[in-house]
Amino acid sequence: MTSSICILGSTGSIGTQALDVARKHHIPVTALAAGTREETLERQAREFLPAAVYIDDSRYASLKARLADTSIRVLSGREGLIELAATDTSPTVVNALTGILGFLPTLSAVEAGKDIALANKETLVAGGDLVMSRAAEKGVKILPVDSEHSAIFQCLQCGGKAKKILLTGSGGPFFGKDKAFLETVTAADALRHPNWSMGPKITVDSSTLMNKGLEFIEAVHLFGVTPDRIEVVIQRESIIHSMVQFEDNAVLAQMGVPDMRLCIQYALTYPERTESPAGELDLFEVGKLTFYKPDTRTFPLLQLAKDTITKGGNLPAAMNGANEEAVGRFLKGEISYLRLFDIVIAATAQTAFIQNPTAEEILASDRAAREYVRGH
Ligand code: MG
Repeated sequence: MTSSICILGSTGSIGTQALDVARKHHIPVTALAAGTREETLERQAREFLPAAVYIDDSRYASLKARLADTSIRVLSGREGLIELAATDTSPTVVNALTGILGFLPTLSAVEAGKDIALANKETLVAGGDLVMSRAAEKGVKILPVDSEHSAIFQCLQCGGKAKKILLTGSGGPFFGKDKAFLETVTAADALRHPNWSMGPKITVDSSTLMNKGLEFIEAVHLFGVTPDRIEVVIQRESIIHSMVQFEDNAVLAQMGVPDMRLCIQYALTYPERTESPAGELDLFEVGKLTFYKPDTRTFPLLQLAKDTITKGGNLPAAMNGANEEAVGRFLKGEISYLRLFDIVIAATAQTAFIQNPTAEEILASDRAAREYVRGH
């Protein structure tokens, strides 16, 4: 088990569940970073007493005043977040930030020799080649927190070479729907996920299947497999969290009730297993497990993600930036659901290809794709 943790994105869905795990196992928390939820951050800081906290610039003065009676250091600004990730004293950084904002802090923590319990998808989607090669050079572990990658990681612990990864997904709230239906979808519809409780960005991504696309790209990087060795399987009940087929064609699956705390905990206690806050799986209550092929014609962003990681370079970063921006516009009611698909595809298609992008080029590709989405 890790001796202490720093949590980036502590007030979000994964962050608060990571704190549940820390509370249960008395894992010291040395630093917390949040966006704008200063009241929640203050409460967390008073409970866990970290050495430092980070908050968005807009709330810096106010949080500093709130914590004036403590010795907790308050940081802000982009450099503050990167500095926090590098200088914090914990051996493990839980990165639960949402969006591309999570990329540089991961890189900074890797350079500082820390293991990463990774929930931030964009780190590997946008900068997977760079982050994984630096992690290998530094000898640090990238421990997956996302349920699917945690499942694959758990299956791989038995040893043997993975022949194929079977990446499962629930299919989202619009499973089985056609294009005519999708024309009518509103932000409120897209925010209702059947099985998992998550933040708004990832819930919309689950509905478009882009979430599975991003996870597909992450799996390529995390497990060092080529895209043709990953198959997406719709598993409607979200009981099987992913599977690995080995060379002898044995398939191992990891199952459990959909509760992220089990995955977060495994990343923090690895390689040990211990009692968790997650409930027991009752297979008789589940009754049956159903499997389907994903409908990539109706939901083209999954196919886009597969094509994009096959080409590689800076294209996943551009696609991800375009998607993040387009989801934001959709949630604000500025563009329709189907327009979201088209605009992400177009923004990715117009990106100038760079085979081996630097961190700066990755961020520039992200920015350019966002600008395209804002202007179209
Ligand atoms: Mg997932």
